[in-house]
Amino acid sequence: MHIVQVGMEYDVLKENNKIANSNYRLLKKHDIRTIELMGSIGSGKTALIIKLAERLRKKGLRICAIAGDVTGEDDQRRMKESGLDAVNCNTGHECHLDANLVKKSLDSMDLDRYDVIFIENVGNLVCPADFPLGADYRVVVISTTEGDDMVRKHHDIFLHSDVAILNKIDISDAVGVDPEIIKEDYKRLTGGLKSMYTCSVKTEDGIDELVSVLGL
Ligand code: MG
Ligand code: ZN
Repeated sequence: MHIVQVGMEYDVLKENNKIANSNYRLLKKHDIRTIELMGSIGSGKTALIIKLAERLRKKGLRICAIAGDVTGEDDQRRMKESGLDAVNCNTGHECHLDANLVKKSLDSMDLDRYDVIFIENVGNLVCPADFPLGADYRVVVISTTEGDDMVRKHHDIFLHSDVAILNKIDISDAVGVDPEIIKEDYKRLTGGLKSMYTCSVKTEDGIDELVSVLGL
């Protein structure tokens, strides 16, 4: 986990926001649209990025992904096997990406080669909320297998994100979860202003709608 001292936490977050702003400006200078995906381990972030990227490539867009994980290169490898350019970004021991780690990844890339960048955060529904990275959209991905109480348990991540997606809608019956409960919780949390989008990365239900929701 991050931080112990309250005063230090404030400085760390302020510094992160400063770097996130400069990441955002750098990406805009290169005319790149950037989507960050947050969510638990196993919610389907990597698979969703791969599916979205397939569609965007057909539109002629040039895509890269930054695969954030504590250790290992498994997600980056899956992305590359699908034909997607991908950069690995290990946090070492931290349970979230921060703007400085993303800055280092961006510095290692030729940004003129890309139109869209996906940033996959570390599987975690808690601290990524506090660390914006400089993306256009912060997206949170949950899945029906995580239970119907995810919104009630994790207000912060939903309030700090622009778009919420409920994945694995095809197996909601099998896991005994009513998607309507989750969607209602989200609607209530966001004051009735926002709706959660549903999809199944496996059956590809809802993926085309997400492409347009994300302005891609
Ligand atoms: Mg992943
Ligand atoms: Zn963390």
